[in-house]
Amino acid sequence: MQYISTRGQAPVSSAQAVLNGLSPDGGLYVPEYIPEVPAEWLDPSVQYTYQELASAVLNLYFPEFGESELKEMCLQAYASFSDPGVIPYTRLDDSTCLMELYHGPTLAFKDVALQLLPRLIVRAAQLTGEKRVIHILTATSGDTGKAALEGFHDVEGTACTVFYPKDGVSDLQYRQMATSQGKNVQVVAVRGNFDDAQTGVKRLFADPDFRAELNAAGRLPSSANSINIGRLIPQIVYYFHGYRYLRAANALKAGEPMDVCVPTGNFGDILAAWYAKHMGLPVGRLICASNRNRVLTDFFNTGVYDIDRPFHKTISPSMDILISSNLERLLFELCSRDAGTVRAWMAALKENGRFELPAALLSKLQAEFAAGTADDDQTRTAIRDTFESAHKLVDPHTAVGLSVLGALRSGKTKNCVTLVNATASPYKFVSDVSSALGLPVSGRVFDDARALSERTGTQLPASIAALETMEIRHKTVSEPEKMGEAVMAFIGKEA
Ligand SMILES: *Cc1c(COP(=O)(O)O)cnc(C)c1O
Repeated sequence: MQYISTRGQAPVSSAQAVLNGLSPDGGLYVPEYIPEVPAEWLDPSVQYTYQELASAVLNLYFPEFGESELKEMCLQAYASFSDPGVIPYTRLDDSTCLMELYHGPTLAFKDVALQLLPRLIVRAAQLTGEKRVIHILTATSGDTGKAALEGFHDVEGTACTVFYPKDGVSDLQYRQMATSQGKNVQVVAVRGNFDDAQTGVKRLFADPDFRAELNAAGRLPSSANSINIGRLIPQIVYYFHGYRYLRAANALKAGEPMDVCVPTGNFGDILAAWYAKHMGLPVGRLICASNRNRVLTDFFNTGVYDIDRPFHKTISPSMDILISSNLERLLFELCSRDAGTVRAWMAALKENGRFELPAALLSKLQAEFAAGTADDDQTRTAIRDTFESAHKLVDPHTAVGLSVLGALRSGKTKNCVTLVNATASPYKFVSDVSSALGLPVSGRVFDDARALSERTGTQLPASIAALETMEIRHKTVSEPEKMGEAVMAFIGKEA
């Protein structure tokens, strides 16, 4: 399987695509064709574990990585999930099913891909003969950083540096990162906001002197951002798993499609559902749920993508995003893989902050997608309603999905069976969840977490409770201009 760039550059091998992350022409890699699903995947009487399904999907997209190697990677990656089935499900009612993607080591759905990506990168380096250590450099606003640190720690042939804004992450997110173990991982607080950290990382990638220094130390910089195709493909798996769960539970008849509702930020998670659908999974509507940063809702409803608008900080921070990078992959497919058209749209976005689809392409898009928005009040209402009606605690991101789904359904007499992605543990967002339920919030996060657990009769995840007494191991603070020096100092100590 070769990978082509959405902006037209010549194809590369799957291993090269995983190592490169972004194509040198600025485009994103997509598979040269979308493989078809084998019929037995849709048959719930044929048994598959999550790991078996995952290695089967990966083998369709990364055949050169080797079937037995992929199997081994999947076994290792998902051993760290607390649920023996990897992804558990909760039926909220006859037509609504939560797919709980957050039972990995950092309690957010990003673990599903980031437990696998380091292994794919190591294998890709083997296949391409890359001898340097792959050094991941990532800026984070919270969830991605910890998931990357967990994925890469002590993985031979890799190292990982995470930069976070010093006063821009929650107390729990800070503790999750600063207590990270593993001799190949580094955590750096950057004086500034998320943009300062992100701009700093981009500058490092583009800085020839820094790259030369890294190269002299035997290292190649790379990214664990969701534009990497090695993060997207592992996310396709759970839509097949979810469909098989619903079929086995008799919630769906053979051939009957399910709707999928995805709380969306960078558009990676919902794009994986689109891939699953085009592989042959019976999917009806793809519902794209946004918070108050409703750039995607407006796009799906009007065909105009316009980032000239205020940026809102919400209680679902992982979806506070105006430029959804992975949308470029969908646009490429929408215009029948015409790289010239994609280049023109992306140039317009860069120059004027907007682009517009022709009417025919907008109707093509609307035939597959529905979109909606929930503001913070609606999100809190969904948290409370879900707890009251189904005794299920959901996090604010998941609640955005449920709120949007409810609004799209209102007035209908019959609801389609819908899989709703539950993307994070409610305990990662203790104060917002507690206040949505009307519980008092002290601001002492572990006290509040215990109170939430007692008052709702839900279990406090062990990995959150453990943070209270874990040693803070990472104390490096850097000015945005000195991030490269921080990385080189770490490499010097490591060597
Ligand atoms: C990253 C994230 C999302 C958004 O996923 P995308 O793939 O960026 O659309 C939603 N919820 C949580 C909890 C996340 O961490």
